[in-house]
Amino acid sequence: MAIEIIMPKLGVDMQEGEIIEWKKQEGDVVNEGDVILEMMSDKTGMELEAEDSGVLIKIVRGNGEVVPVTEVIGYIGAEGESVDSAAAPAPAEVAQATADLKAAGLEVPATPAAAAAQAPKAELAANEYDMVVVGGGPAGYYAAIKGAQLGGKIAIVEKYEFGGTCLNKGCIPTKTYLKNAEILDGLKIAAGRGINLASTNYTIDMDKAVDFKNSVVKTLTGGVAGLLKANKVTVFNGLGQVNPDKTVTIGSETIKGRSIILATGSKVSRINIPGIDSKLVLTSDDILDLREIPKSLTVMGGGVVGVELGLVYASYGTEVTVVEMADRIIPGVDREVSVELQKVLSKKGMKFLTSVGVEKIVEANNQLTIKLNDGSEVVSEKALLSIGRVPQLAGLENLNLEMDRGRIKVNAYQETSIPGIYAPGDVNGTKMLAHAAYRMGEVAAENAINGNHHKAKLDFTPAAVYTHPEIAMVGLTEEQAREQYGDILIGKNSFTGNGRAIASNEAHGFVKVIADAKYHEVLGVHIIGPVAAEMINEAATIMESELTVDDVAASIHGHPTFSEVMYEAFLDVLGVAIHNPPKRK
Ligand SMILES: Cc1cc2nc3c(=O)[nH]c(=O)nc-3n(C[C@H](O)[C@H](O)[C@H](O)COP(=O)(O)OP(=O)(O)OC[C@H]3O[C@@H](n4cnc5c(N)ncnc54)[C@H](O)[C@@H]3O)c2cc1C
Repeated sequence: MAIEIIMPKLGVDMQEGEIIEWKKQEGDVVNEGDVILEMMSDKTGMELEAEDSGVLIKIVRGNGEVVPVTEVIGYIGAEGESVDSAAAPAPAEVAQATADLKAAGLEVPATPAAAAAQAPKAELAANEYDMVVVGGGPAGYYAAIKGAQLGGKIAIVEKYEFGGTCLNKGCIPTKTYLKNAEILDGLKIAAGRGINLASTNYTIDMDKAVDFKNSVVKTLTGGVAGLLKANKVTVFNGLGQVNPDKTVTIGSETIKGRSIILATGSKVSRINIPGIDSKLVLTSDDILDLREIPKSLTVMGGGVVGVELGLVYASYGTEVTVVEMADRIIPGVDREVSVELQKVLSKKGMKFLTSVGVEKIVEANNQLTIKLNDGSEVVSEKALLSIGRVPQLAGLENLNLEMDRGRIKVNAYQETSIPGIYAPGDVNGTKMLAHAAYRMGEVAAENAINGNHHKAKLDFTPAAVYTHPEIAMVGLTEEQAREQYGDILIGKNSFTGNGRAIASNEAHGFVKVIADAKYHEVLGVHIIGPVAAEMINEAATIMESELTVDDVAASIHGHPTFSEVMYEAFLDVLGVAIHNPPKRK
């Protein structure tokens, strides 16, 4: 079926755009991402890219025409296909829309599809909304605000606090505690820099640490609530029970949405092994509110959450042992980076047991014996269960949704198997990161309000681990790149020679750039070192913009900055890094 190309709404105030020049003509083959036309909006020129691949089967509005937003300007379809009736509204629908527009004193657009899209929609009853969002985490609150920006009447249902896992139990609490670990590291190097402290003794006041964390969380969750209010999003507090007819019940109240966004997120994954229910076994939710420092902690699962929280407690003086089934910690990142991180954290006193799993937990005398499947055991005061997260589906039981390994299955438009019901964020398990949830929520809202025109492209989503040193990555690991491309180039540069890093006592780690040997296309960037989580955003932008290694080499990076290391890693791909020894020919 032919797919509509519409005049996009690129800003809150944008009402119309001018087609400057079609870059493709009727009959031309179009690939997703190809520039199809140049347009002008609010005196800003921009290029419109194809959202789908196929043939440009019809141009509806030509060069020089000024077109209202959301109006159809062309169609992409299969070769030989004509714009069929499926792509256009039914004649009765068009006649009604035309009559409605005339009655409202509005101009009737040139095309039938545009007439239907622009016609004033039937009045919504008091309990009806253009879009009902269930869940107020990153995916949900982003979707709600985006929907409101697009002019929709929006409701959001949240059973706990706005901000979801990220603000309340995830990203923000962990980073607040990791800052404490960084401050403690700073105390250790002060004397060497000529800062003499009256005493090097310190104690950790966990009550204050938890209270401070709570105040950070409250500031941010309050901010989200304020933004929703400012965007006139109607808020419902309580568990939303969602039904296939797009009604949502919250206690005794029932509301209805033209579209529904399921943004119910995820919860801690549990394993069924003897002893797992001991009260000394904590989840990440529990440990964030712990008001005493355990003498020893076994972290079961050496992924991002386990390693970050393990480091927090190691910095407080807890004896931390991380048990990981894979042969290295954080197995999703580039091997070289993960091996280096494990080395640095071992030097900081953390213990790592890899290629081994937990078989049984025995609680006795207020301590745990963790029995491992290689016959060894670890004894500790507490344990942290951090083996991953699974979708949260409470309230969605009445929907007979298509699932994929326990996750809600969605297409690129973030739509589920039920048309008009979307499921962005952790609940679909595609990429369980807050910023990926933001993007999926935004795309879901655009499609829910204006029809399915936007796809969530998550290929260049950066990911970071906020240990000291930090690690961050975007794109393919070296192993993946070798497997997919065969012939690759690798450039590296170390922080050991970087002026800003030496001046900051942070001259450890490296940046590694992976590129395709033929076109120097950037395939992946991996960092271990200072501010890696900040720096990776530049790499993500480079990859999203499809800049080549040579393009980056032509840029100028400020001095002294940590980012110079990344710049030099790009130069090293070409064998011309100034601060690396010459490459052997
Ligand atoms: C310890 C930890 C650290 C993390 N650190 C990072 C990090 O540094 N960076 C990063 O990018 N990601 C991080 N994450 C992951 C990040 O928190 C998630 O990817 C993100 O929160 C997903 O957003 P979401 O909106 O999909 O779901 P969630 O944030 O889980 O939000 C879902 C919301 O829906 C509500 N809800 C669920 N069901 C219903 C219902 N039926 N009715 C009403 N409300 C409902 C919940 O109460 C919740 O508020 C971390 C996670 C953890 C656990």
